[in-house]
Amino acid sequence: MQLLYIRYLANCPVDEIQCVAQTRRRHRCTAPLLAPQTPAGRWTLVPTATTHGQLPLPGEVMAVYSLTGLPYAEQLRWRAQRCPEHAAIPTAADVTVTDWEPFDLLLHHEHIHTRLPTLTRRQGPARRSGKAAQL
Ligand SMILES: [Zn+2]
Repeated sequence: MQLLYIRYLANCPVDEIQCVAQTRRRHRCTAPLLAPQTPAGRWTLVPTATTHGQLPLPGEVMAVYSLTGLPYAEQLRWRAQRCPEHAAIPTAADVTVTDWEPFDLLLHHEHIHTRLPTLTRRQGPARRSGKAAQL
């Protein structure tokens, strides 16, 4: 996943990343970050080289879920790992730390996929809204 121009590794699929805020009932919020009403990122192939001085593997690309096209506030929301509702309530405490881990080319090599994922599930509505926006 790429947000705010930095690549991160999440510990679960994009559409399963869950809000970390605490609800009024003191449970962890179960809302996903990828809410139907919010803009979705898009899968894209990028060179494995990063901006942090890591050496690129020649000719290799990797699939990342990029939020680069999203508004800054949306990217901040993703980094804070909060659903739209809790993004609007900064006073709600976090139950747990965020799942992000800065992506490391060597450590996380097994997570590098050179092809875009097959688009399923929640990608559907996102694609439809994309088409609608083009009309
Ligand atoms: Zn939430």
